[in-house]
Amino acid sequence: MDFEHIPHAAPVPSATRDEALANPGFGTLFTDHMVEIDYDADKGGWFTARVCPRGPISLDPAAAVLHYAQEIFEGMKAYRQDDGGIALFRPEANARRFNQSADRMAMPHLPEELFLESIRRLLSVDKDWFPTVEGGSLYLRPFMFASEAFLGVRPAKQYKYLLIASPAGNYFKSGAPAVKIWVSRDYVRAAPGGTGAAKTGGNYAASLVPQAEAIEKGCDQVVFLDAAERKWVEELGGMNLFFVFDDGSVVTPPLGGTILPGITRDSLIQLLRDEGLEVREEPYSIDQWRDDANSGRLIETMACGTAAVVTPVGTVAGPDGEFTIGGGGPGQITSKLREKLVGIQRGRVDDTYGWVTR
Ligand code: PMP
Repeated sequence: MDFEHIPHAAPVPSATRDEALANPGFGTLFTDHMVEIDYDADKGGWFTARVCPRGPISLDPAAAVLHYAQEIFEGMKAYRQDDGGIALFRPEANARRFNQSADRMAMPHLPEELFLESIRRLLSVDKDWFPTVEGGSLYLRPFMFASEAFLGVRPAKQYKYLLIASPAGNYFKSGAPAVKIWVSRDYVRAAPGGTGAAKTGGNYAASLVPQAEAIEKGCDQVVFLDAAERKWVEELGGMNLFFVFDDGSVVTPPLGGTILPGITRDSLIQLLRDEGLEVREEPYSIDQWRDDANSGRLIETMACGTAAVVTPVGTVAGPDGEFTIGGGGPGQITSKLREKLVGIQRGRVDDTYGWVTR
């Protein structure tokens, strides 16, 4: 598909931009451009693609997304490598997951090549927007929503795909401090047969109240249990979990349709296995987690995702008390994996897996 290119008539002045890039924070600063591609079932699918100045979009008040939440998104990062090149980490996995989310939300596929091309196009016009701060990256947010003006409840016939980019600072300024997490007993994130495995806005809307409860209880993040038995540990609001035992084995909750199939999760499984550790994808209960932490059999718990890469979980709190894992700080395996993954992303460690696209 041909991309029309409409350059920004009044881009952010470079002095203002350079100042912002020294301390970008997360999610509030945006690059000059965006990609926009339109879909209409009656016009045979995806029909116009353009790179244009980033700005407000106009939407009919009856646009289906505003009423029935037919929306999906992805979250990924572009990294500036040590030699100055720009790298993406497993972008084809994001393209694939985007379409898996589309399937669950009765939305059309965006061809994987078009997804990847949209990223290349945006990076080429906004490449001056990489944070200058150590550990910074350009966060990419591809998303698609139902734009058709129609109030009936059925899959829309018109969609918009947009890609925006946001310079992001180092999630953790120095290393990765251990987080304290809150076990949500009153709320669940996803039910069997629901939309938990899709990256769709509604899952995140549903997590806001339990996340606020976690903060109120003095924790950083919420951990969700399964909806049916309220027994099995699923994932955090935005990260998957791994449990490391003293016998060198590792457990991570299985992908049963209620948790997001994280790309970091998938990468860690491979890295752990190549380190000679046995990784089992099997259910792990909250009671077992507490017992194993208390007995010392469990030596580390890590949370993983694009935003924070690999983060140690130090303490787990809930309505019935709390427990601490290992010494409550970053464990050896967590630190080693984090270093390895960041090293691959930044081009400091050999990419033997072919995960990096330059
Ligand atoms: N679980 C949820 C609910 C998430 O939102 C994310 C972030 N995309 C993850 C897990 C981690 O996924 P990934 O490693 O692909 O970033």
